[in-house]
Amino acid sequence: MKQPAVIGIDLGGTNCRGALVGEDGKLRFQRGMDTAIDEGLDSFWARFLIFCRALVSQGEQQGYSVDGLGLGFPGLVAKDGSVRVSPNLGPLNDFALTDRLTRELQLPVKVVNDANAIALGEARWGAGQAFDSFVMVTLGTGVGGGMIFNRQIWDGADGAAGEVGHIAVEPAGRVCGCGSHGCLEQYASGSALVRTYRELLKNTVENGDKASIQIRSAEEVAAAALSGDPAALGAFESAGCYLGQVLAGIANLLNLDAAVIGGGVSANFDLLMPSLRAEMDKRAFAVTGRRMKVVPAVLGDSAGILGAALVVREMLQKAQLDKL
Ligand SMILES: [Zn+2]
Repeated sequence: MKQPAVIGIDLGGTNCRGALVGEDGKLRFQRGMDTAIDEGLDSFWARFLIFCRALVSQGEQQGYSVDGLGLGFPGLVAKDGSVRVSPNLGPLNDFALTDRLTRELQLPVKVVNDANAIALGEARWGAGQAFDSFVMVTLGTGVGGGMIFNRQIWDGADGAAGEVGHIAVEPAGRVCGCGSHGCLEQYASGSALVRTYRELLKNTVENGDKASIQIRSAEEVAAAALSGDPAALGAFESAGCYLGQVLAGIANLLNLDAAVIGGGVSANFDLLMPSLRAEMDKRAFAVTGRRMKVVPAVLGDSAGILGAALVVREMLQKAQLDKL
């Protein structure tokens, strides 16, 4: 008998990655393509369908029964599976993505917000397995967020819940891409780390601007911090502090079991933790603050693909149960 499997796809603003995922949560094979949305919707759609069909046929050739396709999408996905709005993939706004894919591929399809897919991936196969309810915070170019309540994705009335990155931490602070001011994203993302580092360096007379020009990425700030650079250590301390402030608020509001921290910046989890935990201890109630474990994500780059595979797999399982 053929082994059951599903396709999981992580669609990003720059790259798109997909894989065949087995029942055990292991990736069988992967493919990638450039998203290249600037070539226009028609071009993207034609290339994306070829990409999806190639994944399905490769799975079938290898002897799997490909039962469905899950997609993590970088934007707001309405309850009917259509795209509402995407900051990075604007031409897909109001596109009936789920319906069109289902029709073209003749397969069950489920589309969810990418941060929610990542949260589900960590919930089932990653750092969130021990927790009933947790918030997932992804510290990358921006700050993404997703929530798992009672082991299920909580995406709110409009599918728009979980925007941890756009909780204000400085009312009159740095301007944010969302149109507001002082959002967490402007203080705890990878690019925010670089910005804070440069601001701190400017304050130290002897270093001047020379060193700051050489450092362009969060990884470089981390390397500088690990070699004892006070401005780099200060940048991580500041990011940890702001994140701790937000997590304390979430702990008091929702009394969750945990916060799972993922994304590129979380590779340096230990640099964030001291100020993050200190801030939580200061601000959260003792019961809610101590309950909320703060742990690093474990699935890395694969979390989005695995989560996308899970959303469709669980949709199929539910449909089967409903039939009984
Ligand atoms: Zn914002």
